[in-house]
Amino acid sequence: MQIGIRSQIKDGGIVGEVFLSDQLINGAGYAKHLANSSFVEKILDDMSGELNELPILRNHDCDSSCYQCLRTYDNMIYHPILNWRLGLDIANLMQDSDFVPSLKANRWKDLVKSGLHNLMKIDEEGMLVNEDIPVVSFNFQEEVACIIKHPFWDDNCERIGSLKKSLEGEGLNVKIFDVFDLLHRPEWIIYKLKQSYDQSKENILF
Ligand SMILES: [Zn+2]
Repeated sequence: MQIGIRSQIKDGGIVGEVFLSDQLINGAGYAKHLANSSFVEKILDDMSGELNELPILRNHDCDSSCYQCLRTYDNMIYHPILNWRLGLDIANLMQDSDFVPSLKANRWKDLVKSGLHNLMKIDEEGMLVNEDIPVVSFNFQEEVACIIKHPFWDDNCERIGSLKKSLEGEGLNVKIFDVFDLLHRPEWIIYKLKQSYDQSKENILF
């Protein structure tokens, strides 16, 4: 059995596709079985339901992926982007299109809390000014703030837009980052926040 991903242009937009195939001609027929049964739906139901509560996931705390959860030798080229929390969020979305992923969910909240703590340790001027959607403000030469969003949220969605508008109303210079930035490159967040008011800082990193 082989599992792969590819991107396709459809109706003017880019969509991701997952494909399953038997590796050998006259293979065991797993791909055919999966295509003709509700087995995939059952897997998604389990991932969103009871499997979500398995002790191995409840107590799992690697920050993205490891050899105890998603990493294998075969998916080595994807290791840097594999994330078991996002995997479960995708499973929830595939099962229920109205599902809204949240950083307040049990699987995210402790990791986000520790990421925010680390961010504020880099520059102790930092202050958590909103908890629902995390916002950290810094009192540099100017008052700046970063909104930390779930990676699946659009920067222009209603909840981010109204929060940004309200912070800007208080005189803050606001930038939006996602939890990937918070966990993997918090120094970059500080750099970008300082760059937002100090144009003398060249964009040397990205
Ligand atoms: Zn892991």
